[in-house]
Amino acid sequence: MKTEYTILKKANLNNNCPVCFNTDGLIISFKQKELKTALFKRNAKDVEDKIECLKCKSHIYPALWTKDIEMVYDYHRKTVTPTASKVRFTPLFYTLVIILFIIVAATIIYLKNPEILNS
Ligand SMILES: [Zn+2]
Repeated sequence: MKTEYTILKKANLNNNCPVCFNTDGLIISFKQKELKTALFKRNAKDVEDKIECLKCKSHIYPALWTKDIEMVYDYHRKTVTPTASKVRFTPLFYTLVIILFIIVAATIIYLKNPEILNS
């Protein structure tokens, strides 16, 4: 099983970085986890968010957020809609289903007319 992330939104913030005080380095991102197997993919329900500073390469944890950062966070959080959590099957899954169907159909035909292979 593989875990991948889909970026739902990424935005630059004009707030001061609480670590290096730069005003043009903060970036907020919202992402949704997706579990992938050979046969299906499924989105996780919750959205993960992260604020980081590109100038000082810090991950800005909520404990460091200022009131202003909280306000822009809330604003951006409201604009993000996670993709519905549902299972999507991969082409491999459908291929296996079709192969299985052909095997079952061939078996039924053979059991009904065993002489089909002798003709
Ligand atoms: Zn910084």
